[in-house]
Amino acid sequence: MKLIGKGKAKDIYQADNGDVIFEFTDRVTAFDGAKKAEFPHKGMVCCGLAACWFRIIEKEGIPTHFKERMGETKMRVVNLKILPVEVIWRNYMAGSLWRRFEKGEIKLPEGTDAREGALIPNGMLEFTTKFEAVDRPVSTKEILDAKWMTEKELKLLSEMTEKINDIMFSRLLRKDIILADFKVEFGKTHEGKILLGDEVGTPDGCRFWDRQAYIRGEFLSLDKDVFRKNKGDLSKAYLEIYDRITKDY
Ligand code: C5P
Repeated sequence: MKLIGKGKAKDIYQADNGDVIFEFTDRVTAFDGAKKAEFPHKGMVCCGLAACWFRIIEKEGIPTHFKERMGETKMRVVNLKILPVEVIWRNYMAGSLWRRFEKGEIKLPEGTDAREGALIPNGMLEFTTKFEAVDRPVSTKEILDAKWMTEKELKLLSEMTEKINDIMFSRLLRKDIILADFKVEFGKTHEGKILLGDEVGTPDGCRFWDRQAYIRGEFLSLDKDVFRKNKGDLSKAYLEIYDRITKDY
């Protein structure tokens, strides 16, 4: 196995047969790498949850790069050429969307109240850059003009992301968890087929809110916002979301 890259939270290896192996580490970063730390169990939680969601999503008909989990923190995946945009789906006003609204940079999504945590009635799809130093929102026009993707590919990514939201949102609700938003990445195989790549459904790439706390008017985050906003022990929050999602499936 040869080390071929180090992401913010994952080390990436190439296996002898050409597959890619992800090792989920305990590293955590926020604000485009400006804030860094390590938390025990984080790698196991993200590897376990990503494997769990990849299996569910694949079964629901969305092709993914997942092949197998290898021990607590490793996963074997198909070698992909990652497309240069990250895809964000939002069900609630949070994070950078709320910040942009407060600064007056964007209008409210249709039917959405002007408060943090408000429901976005029909959900919202956004694209951000993947290979620039700082992630920046990009319009579909910019994506097409730059020839990062064709119109057909963009439509496919949008449809797959909306379906991934439907799959995760309904399952999480049964666990009394609100999926406020999430990010996914896609890539192309040697044959040109588009697969869901990177990781999915982990607390690094999703906002998970406890639903009972939300009903009481509080945000109880079970995701990386615990680290971003100094809201307590990240290991504890990650182990809790891991237990809630993986128990009794
Ligand atoms: O920060 P923002 O509100 O734009 O993030 C939206 C969602 O995408 C959050 O769930 C966040 O964790 C995820 N995200 C990510 N990787 C990034 C940017 C955002 O996983 N580079």
